[in-house]
Amino acid sequence: MNILLIGSGGREHALAWKMAQSPLVDVVHCAPGNPGMDAVGPCFDVAADDIDGLVKLALQIEPDLVVIGPEAPLALGLSDILRARGFDVFGPSKEAAQLEASKAFSKARMTKYGVPTAAYGEFTEAAPAKTFLRKMRAPYVLKADGLAAGKGVVIAETLEEADSEIDEMLSGKFGDASATLVIEEFMHGEEASVFVITDGEGAIFLPAAQDHKRVGDGDTGPNTGGMGAYAPAPVVSEEIMSRVKCEIAAPMLKGMAKDGMPYQGVLYIGIMVTAEGPKVVEFNARFGDPECQVLMKGLKGDIVPAILVAATGGLKGNEEAFEALLELEDFQPAATVVLAAKGYPGSYEKGTVIEGVKQAGALEGVTVFHAGTDVADGGKLIAKGGRVLNVTASGATLREAVDRAYAGVDAINWPEGFCRRDIGWRAL
Ligand code: AMP
Repeated sequence: MNILLIGSGGREHALAWKMAQSPLVDVVHCAPGNPGMDAVGPCFDVAADDIDGLVKLALQIEPDLVVIGPEAPLALGLSDILRARGFDVFGPSKEAAQLEASKAFSKARMTKYGVPTAAYGEFTEAAPAKTFLRKMRAPYVLKADGLAAGKGVVIAETLEEADSEIDEMLSGKFGDASATLVIEEFMHGEEASVFVITDGEGAIFLPAAQDHKRVGDGDTGPNTGGMGAYAPAPVVSEEIMSRVKCEIAAPMLKGMAKDGMPYQGVLYIGIMVTAEGPKVVEFNARFGDPECQVLMKGLKGDIVPAILVAATGGLKGNEEAFEALLELEDFQPAATVVLAAKGYPGSYEKGTVIEGVKQAGALEGVTVFHAGTDVADGGKLIAKGGRVLNVTASGATLREAVDRAYAGVDAINWPEGFCRRDIGWRAL
C-alpha cells in the first residue's frame, strides 16, 4: 500500500513511523512532513491547509489511503473532496468534523443524543450572555465557538472578568471564531483523553491518555499545546472506560450516523472524570498531539488495518479481530516529553542548533519525534517552532517509560530548549 499522510507535527511523525512498520505498507508519503518524517518517507512541500495543492498531490501519487493528521484540512473539507475523487480517507467529513470546529454544534449534538456534558448556553449578543452568566456559579467557562488554536477557552473567576471577556470575544478577540460564544458550567474532576477509531458504526477504543497542558512543573503557568503525555491513564478505570463507551461514544456515533453525518476517522473524546461519572469537555476530530505519540509508541501491533477499515467501512462486528491485530492487550506504558524553545508559549528564538537527537533515539525504548525542526544549510538540525521535539519512550512500567524518556532528553544538547520534569506525575 501507498499512504499519503497530511501534516507536519510530532503527531504526524509518530503516525508515519508507526504506519511504515506495517507489513501492508510500501511507502508513507508526507505532505508537508518534517525532517523526522523525511527519514520515513518522501516529503512534499504542500501545506496542510492548501486544499487544492493536496488534491493535486493525491491525483499525482494515487495513494491507496489518505490519512489526515491535523484539524485544519478536516474543517476545510479535504476528506469530502478526496472521497468524491474516489480516494479512501481516514478523517471525518467537514460536517462531522464540526464536532471540533464548532463548540455550539458539538454541544447541540450532545444534548440531542443525551450525552453527559456541562450545562451550557450559546450566544451571539452580550446582553443575554451576561444574563445567563448570572444564573451560573463561578468559575465561569467561556468558549469561542470556532477553532482558535487551542486558545479559545477562558476560565474567569469573577463576574466582572467574565463580563469583559464576553465583550472582547463577541467583538472579535478570536476573529470569526468568537462571533458565537458558548458559556458552560464548570466541571470538577480529573481530565483524560479517550481515542476511538471508527468507520461510523464500529468502534475500537485505544488506551486512555493524559496530557500536560500547562507549561510549568506541577501544572503551573500558562496553557500550551501540550508539554507531555502518557498512557494508559489510571484515572480511566475499567468502569469509567465502559461508561465512556456506553454513555458517550455509542450514542454519539449512532446519532451522527442516523442524522446523515457518519463519523469516520478517530474521535478524540476529552472527558472530565467527575463525581457523577465521565462527562465530555470537548471532542476533537483527530488524534491529540502529543497523546498520539504515546499511543503509537505503546501499541505493539499493526495500526494500519484499523485505520484502513475506518476509512473503508466494515468494522462493526469485527472489532475483536482488529483489536487483536493492534495487540491492544499488550499495550506498553509510554510517555512523551516535549522539548520546547525557551520562552514558549510566549515569544522564542528560532534557528538554534540541536545536537544529540540520534544518540537519544539509540537509547533503549526511546524514539524522538520531530515537531518543529528544520535542517539548516550544512545539514545541522535547528529549531523552527515552539514545541520542537517529542522524546518518547515505552517500558515495562510507566516509571520505566518516563525514566527512559528523560534519559533521552538528557542525551540531547540544546541549551535554548526546556521541558517539564514531571510528566506522568498523576499516575506515578
Ligand atoms: P476545550 O478546548 O473545550 O477542551 O477547553 C480547554 C480546557 O479548558 C480543557 O482542557 C479544560 O481544562 C478546561 N475546560 C473546558 N471546559 C471546562 C468545563 N466545563 N469545566 C472545567 N474545565 C473546563
